[in-house]
Amino acid sequence: MSYKSFKPENRFLMGPGPSNVNPKVLEAMSKLPLGHLDPQFIELMNDLKSLLKYTFKTENENTFVLSGPGSLGMEMCLVNLIEPGDKVIVCVGGYFGNRMVQIVEKIGGQAVVVKEKWGRAIEPQKLEDVLNVNPDTKIAVFVHAETSTGALSNIKQLSGIAHRKSCIVLADVVTSLGAVDIYVDEWNLDAVYSCSQKGLACTAGMSPVTFSERAVASIKNRKTPIKSWFNDLNLLQGYWNGGAKRIYHHTAPSNQYYGLHEALLILKEEGIENAWRRHKENSAKMISRLKQIGLEPFVPEGERIPNLITVKIPDGIDEAKVRSELLNKHNLEIGAGLGELAGKIWRIGLMGYNSNEKMIDYCINALKDVL
Ligand SMILES: *Cc1c(COP(=O)(O)O)cnc(C)c1O
Repeated sequence: MSYKSFKPENRFLMGPGPSNVNPKVLEAMSKLPLGHLDPQFIELMNDLKSLLKYTFKTENENTFVLSGPGSLGMEMCLVNLIEPGDKVIVCVGGYFGNRMVQIVEKIGGQAVVVKEKWGRAIEPQKLEDVLNVNPDTKIAVFVHAETSTGALSNIKQLSGIAHRKSCIVLADVVTSLGAVDIYVDEWNLDAVYSCSQKGLACTAGMSPVTFSERAVASIKNRKTPIKSWFNDLNLLQGYWNGGAKRIYHHTAPSNQYYGLHEALLILKEEGIENAWRRHKENSAKMISRLKQIGLEPFVPEGERIPNLITVKIPDGIDEAKVRSELLNKHNLEIGAGLGELAGKIWRIGLMGYNSNEKMIDYCINALKDVL
């Protein structure tokens, strides 16, 4: 058997992430590797930190990157905040909310679910009601953009409700960060995690996180040890917040960090408010074009994620065949439904570098051809 170097197809990635990235990001990733304690690398880490503060709209000192995908951010936040027996309210309107319930229970937390219909934003009154009968709740958890359904929740409002009951607020902004308005400090989001490959328009494998002083104090005041070595905030702080005296925690994947740095730089150069606006405008254009070819949005207006549009699959269509023809004939990837929406919806991403008219045209023409 003979092997040759791997050469991926040139795909148009219009699913729920990863998406295509700016060639400048790939170029940055191909630069020479650096040691994880090299002074030049530490400069890059400091830059990453301040670029992330800009992106999250926060002054939190504890703002950094985890070397792993969004799922790591989810687990890291939960494992640091929850002690066995803690009551945690999880708002569930889709697959990722369900995953949080699973993690809470694995850690020994007591999950109380606020259940929402898949495809709808979490109804704030439901959270209020559940909090009223569970006044001993320590943490409230919600997903901003539920990528499995296409619904965007009002986390500013949810956070206000949870704080009035003295909860610590944990928000998943995995899909939304960089593409949808988020104000971590203004909205009092205490622990927040994201990923690199969705709204931030980089490749996969990194998870930006940020923690308020309140969240950090709660973690420092734990009565039981954090049940993870790799995810322990106290140890990560030694690497990320250590000034000149950094302590080795793990070997940071330097080239991945270069890519994220470049993607955040591109976002800052555009201006994050401009990026939010661009995603909104292109989403509106895409939805009207989809309607013209007979595809109806799954989520009601006003509750849609701008960078991830979900549409109902028309009756009598073999959805897997459509996706495989899009891929084979047009090099175009769109997302299938997840969980209880499998076979019912498609998920079309217009994220970061891909949120532009050229990609809208390409996707609509390919769909028209295949359908
Ligand atoms: C994609 C996603 C995750 C998981 O991120 P990975 O990078 O795939 O691990 C978590 N939450 C939401 C809302 C997501 O869309």
